[in-house]
Amino acid sequence: MHSRLRLSPARRLAYSEVASRFSAFDMGRVIAVANQKGGVGKTTTAINLAASLAAAEVPALLVDCDPQSNSTSGLGFSRNADRPNTYDLIMGAVAAADALQPTAVETLWAIPAHKNLIGANIELVATEGREYRLRDAIAPIRDRFQFIVLDCPPALDLLTLNALVAADSVLIPMQAEYFALEGVSELLDTMERIRQSLNPGLEIEGVVLTMFDERTNLAQQVAGELRNFFGEKLCGATIPRNVRLAEAPSHGKPALLYDVRSKGAESYIRLAKELMDHAARRCEPEPEPSPEPVPRPEPADIQPTRVTTVELQVEPSEPAAVAAEHGSSN
Ligand code: ATP
Ligand code: MG
Repeated sequence: MHSRLRLSPARRLAYSEVASRFSAFDMGRVIAVANQKGGVGKTTTAINLAASLAAAEVPALLVDCDPQSNSTSGLGFSRNADRPNTYDLIMGAVAAADALQPTAVETLWAIPAHKNLIGANIELVATEGREYRLRDAIAPIRDRFQFIVLDCPPALDLLTLNALVAADSVLIPMQAEYFALEGVSELLDTMERIRQSLNPGLEIEGVVLTMFDERTNLAQQVAGELRNFFGEKLCGATIPRNVRLAEAPSHGKPALLYDVRSKGAESYIRLAKELMDHAARRCEPEPEPSPEPVPRPEPADIQPTRVTTVELQVEPSEPAAVAAEHGSSN
């Protein structure tokens, strides 16, 4: 059992202004943090993004969809404890509401993983609707959270597929290295196939550069290449390589509880702001459609007595007057 910490108002202040711009309109946006490449910062991003959203008093849920259970332990839960977990959820053995665990951050909840989740990949293969298991399982609790973050394993397996089918959008953490685009093309192809059949609404929430060292030419070059390819989908917030981010999980804490002033914690707060900004923009009302043209009355409807004949006396404009003077017909 761990004590729950409530963030001080000063910590919340930093981004409450953005949070206040959206309310109950964008309920339960499900964001899968995915990249089939290992070690790119998926779990670090999932934990710190979810915690940063929650610290703005936005109800958030982190679902650990990876049998490695790194986001489970990173939030301070013991690994492989006997409690309702993502395996039970996907196998339909437990309702999502019964699997929710409170965390040390007020308004952040978690559904922990257990190493037995690896078995779901095999056990579900012959099951009907196997790709919809997670989507259907979390459907009853979606409206309890403003954001649901799914931490995916480093593979395009059935677990990641379930996350991509359950998600509204995908946040792709990437390292700025050569062939970065080649590395992510398989994920983009998979997303495209999912859009064509299982989840037509799946969007890219953003691409976030992790372990980013802006001082190197390589990082700048790769960032430029990714900006050309992804356009505005490349997040403005980048995550620097920061030792506090690497240390925090061993203390079972998100970085903002471990060292809120660290560059790492600050960068995830900026990322959370950016995503809340996306949400706020989605909540903004559509521009008013231009007013319907007033129907013209049919000639038969016109009452002769109401017609006023006005003799138009239009002064010819300069060129026309000149043309008339010269007897031109043009
Ligand atoms: P996997 O594919 O195995 O699930 P992952 O993509 O989830 O990995 P993480 O576990 O988040 O990646 O990160 C891999 C390692 O890099 C971890 O030891 C983590 O602490 C460290 N790390 C991640 N981001 C940063 C960062 N910005 N600065 C320093 N260390 C980082
Ligand atoms: Mg991970």
